[in-house]
Parts: sequence; C-alpha cells; structure tokens
Amino acid sequence: MSFFQVNERCNGCLACVQNCPATALDFRDQDSRRTLLHNMALCARCGNCWRVCPQAAIEFSGLLQGRWEEVASMDLVLCRVCGTPIFTEDLGHDLAQKLDRDIEPLCPSHRKNLSLQVWQRLTPDLSKGKGVDA
Ligand code: SF4
Ligand code: SF4
Repeated sequence: MSFFQVNERCNGCLACVQNCPATALDFRDQDSRRTLLHNMALCARCGNCWRVCPQAAIEFSGLLQGRWEEVASMDLVLCRVCGTPIFTEDLGHDLAQKLDRDIEPLCPSHRKNLSLQVWQRLTPDLSKGKGVDA
C-alpha cells in the first residue's frame, strides 16, 4: 500500500501536483472526472505536497509516525530442543532442495552440542574431560 493517501477533503485543486519537486504527482482529466495520480517510484517522500495542500487532504501518517507495516508473514521452523526460531518453512524447503537433503531443525548452539556429543561417542578416549551438556 502506498504511504501517500488522500482523504475526502481533497477538492482537486492540484496545488500538490504543481509543487511536487519530483514530479511524482500528476492528474488525468477524462470523461468529466479528475483523477489524482501518485508514483511511489518517483516520490522523494519530502512531504511538500502535504505542506502546500490547502485542504489538509494528504495523509502521511505512516511516513510521519515511522509506523511499521506488515508486508509478509510466514511460518517459522523452531529448534526442536529449545524452540528458538531458526528460519522460515519456505527457506527451509528451498535450502533442503538446493542441498538435496533434509535439514535438522536445530539452532546453532544445539547443533554444536549435538556435534560434540557425536564426537564424544565416536572418540571416547580423546574426549575424556571435555564435559558437554546432554
Ligand atoms: S512527498 Fe514530495 S516527492 Fe512525494 S509526492 Fe509529495 S511533494 Fe512529491
Ligand atoms: S493539494 Fe490537496 S486538495 Fe489540492 S489536489 Fe492535492 S490533495 Fe487535493
């Protein structure tokens, strides 16, 4: 959603279009209707249109309040030991496909712990004295 919003007070005076330094505002008069246009890719977010609008019709609430807006939401894979989020399910699928193997859902510290336990079991003499949490 564009952060540039115009409320019902807009009367189509075009002061904003004429005072936009980035030519990010335009209008179209067609079939007895005036349409105000805004191009997000050109907009410099300077707020000039908001300052010059005589109707206080431009709403920059998102810009001025620094509000965060959700753009995507996806499921997470959690560490099977401690529940720490590791990566998204989608990323996990992509990685598994690229690596051509399943990826065990373990956070970095439990992955390291598991590697040490395996090493201790494989080399009991060498690893004596190196305590690792179970
Ligand atoms: S914020 Fe600035 S650049 Fe963007 S539309 Fe308004 S006047 Fe133009
Ligand atoms: S300056 Fe304000 S009232 Fe005039 S066209 Fe732009 S938004 Fe509408």
